[in-house]
Amino acid sequence: MSTLALAFDLGGTELRGALVERSGDVAARVSAPTLAGAGSEAVIGQIIALADRLLKEHPQAKVIGIGMCAPGPLDPKAGIVIGPPTLAGWHNVPLIDILSRQFGLPVRLENDANAAALGEWRFGAGRGAGSLVFVTVSTGIGGGVVADGHIYHGRRGLAAEIGHMTITGEGDRCFCGNVGCFEAVASGTALGRRATRLTKPGDNSLLRRLSNDGDVSARHVVEAARAGDATARELVEAEARWLGIGFTNLLHLYSPDLIVMGGGLANGFDLLAPGIRATVDERAMQAYRDVPIVPAELGDRAGLVGAASLILWEGEPGTALAMVQDEETKAGGLSGAREASHG
Ligand SMILES: [Zn+2]
Repeated sequence: MSTLALAFDLGGTELRGALVERSGDVAARVSAPTLAGAGSEAVIGQIIALADRLLKEHPQAKVIGIGMCAPGPLDPKAGIVIGPPTLAGWHNVPLIDILSRQFGLPVRLENDANAAALGEWRFGAGRGAGSLVFVTVSTGIGGGVVADGHIYHGRRGLAAEIGHMTITGEGDRCFCGNVGCFEAVASGTALGRRATRLTKPGDNSLLRRLSNDGDVSARHVVEAARAGDATARELVEAEARWLGIGFTNLLHLYSPDLIVMGGGLANGFDLLAPGIRATVDERAMQAYRDVPIVPAELGDRAGLVGAASLILWEGEPGTALAMVQDEETKAGGLSGAREASHG
């Protein structure tokens, strides 16, 4: 049996767990609706229960550590979940301490956007790149930056909060309190809101028919644009322009080898790509214009496999795998972990 990591992706609505192989392949998956309103102890209980289930169902698995991602803000080095807005009752929870005491395994923690960036970089659309920016566009906008082969953390691990960079001076107020945040104008929520304002219940527009005369969502806009609806096409064009403006800033700031776009709105990537590209060509300085902008490949597995790579990634000093190998070298043994690295 090859070397595996236990991985968890703690979201505000769903808690996902998996056994992940060093190739990034997911050997087993479990999930449960997150008890997001019940406080940290209840949710940690869920994590432990899912972990026990995975370990019980796969007794032969050689698990060498636990990689975990959770919503920010969190401190990856200290292993502390500081206080995510989507999880009630989490205040400075020392998650690494708690889980490593429970399981006697090394535990690593990363915020969910950074973990997804790592996943796409190690196993998905960004394989082989030295630097990349991962942008997830769905309800909000988040991201992670891999710079010169490492996640860029910044002070307290708070770098790359790209959804809240100011890209205009107008529009709806962001939940953070500012006006003009990238997220406030370019998220799926913002796109749905624009579509809702442009139409009315009962107006017989395709957008309202798709939404059964309720609020129009980004998904409805993409669907209507695919069907050739003129209003939806204009909305997609405007959305692509906002994304292109934000991506241009990211190119200028981080000079990545590529930008990877994930999140729900990546389902409409083919429709958005020409407008994004045109905006980047118009606004970016010459030297940045040839950088590829590509859709994510891993979907909702990106965070899980990225979290697992914190444990499994070979060659990174200080990872659990490197420590296991060090101990084996000292002991003169040749274990499954080492054999797996040759096969
Ligand atoms: Zn904001």
